Amino acid sequence: MKADGDPNLVVYFNGQYMPLGEARVGILTHALHYGTGVFEGIRAHWDEGREELFALRPLEHYERWKRNCGILRIFVPHSAEELCAITVELLRRNAFRTNVYVRPLAYKCAERVGVACDDQDAFAVIALPFGDYLHAEKGLHAGVSSWRRVEDNAIPARAKICGAYVNSALASDEARQCGFDEAIFLNESGHVAEGATCNIFMARKGKLITPPVTENVLEGITRDAVMELARRELGLEVVERAIDRSELYVCDELFFTGTAVGVAPVVLVDHRPVGDGAIGAITRGVRQLYFDATRGHLRNYRNWLAPVYQSRETREQDRNSLAGVSG
Ligand code: PMP
Repeated sequence: MKADGDPNLVVYFNGQYMPLGEARVGILTHALHYGTGVFEGIRAHWDEGREELFALRPLEHYERWKRNCGILRIFVPHSAEELCAITVELLRRNAFRTNVYVRPLAYKCAERVGVACDDQDAFAVIALPFGDYLHAEKGLHAGVSSWRRVEDNAIPARAKICGAYVNSALASDEARQCGFDEAIFLNESGHVAEGATCNIFMARKGKLITPPVTENVLEGITRDAVMELARRELGLEVVERAIDRSELYVCDELFFTGTAVGVAPVVLVDHRPVGDGAIGAITRGVRQLYFDATRGHLRNYRNWLAPVYQSRETREQDRNSLAGVSG
């Protein structure tokens, strides 16, 4: 397995596959000074049994990325389908046999001083071996940040705009200095927005509740997946509504969702136990379903996955599945 940042990793940069060590930008690059880039995060999970790497919802990620690039008027000269094909080829060239994180990045690339944007855009796709982002098996301790979530009319939080991640970096750093695993952002209305790097869900009285996308949150693809799984597989009512800070202290269960974190239970918030302080049944159920769906174990969600190597085992299983044989 190649290590994070290994200069020999293959990346896609300036229209070519090349070693990471050779993919360089100039010191005057616009995005480096002014944060004028939009990135994405995509997971691929390695299945040892099937000798297969499954990219998770790459098309949705690239569709979101292209739409959000439009906020900054960054043009990516490929369709979402073409970007999926570039990514599959990139993963193949790296021959990963481990869990992977894919980081597409589009940015204003003019090398000059001056904040006004022009039409010089570039993009790269980087893929790295990547394990768990947060070690959440026993549950996390989250803390409400003293930093507020960026406002839509300042820097839209719904897109992964590079400059907006100063907000997340400040909150993450503060959280870790205070001994928390992750920060929870309130927005300027005082409502719960999301984690520094993930969306948030709360369970109260048997319902699953998450802030709506108008509360200055990233429109998470994992958030979307969890809402679908909770409704369809667990028959839960899922409600999008504003959440007060103090509801965090009286709710039954709390968890984060995100590409990097998956479904991560929170068992302590601001030094107060969530519910009875153990991981709750709804969180456990959703976490297990998400794990199974993203590893290709649930036939109904197989369309979320793009098999990278098209191994013999994957092809056989798909044939059996189409023929109605369980597996
Ligand atoms: N909120 C923020 C601030 C994030 O950075 C992320 C990670 N992309 C998420 C939520 C979760 O989004 P997704 O499920 O699409 O990864």
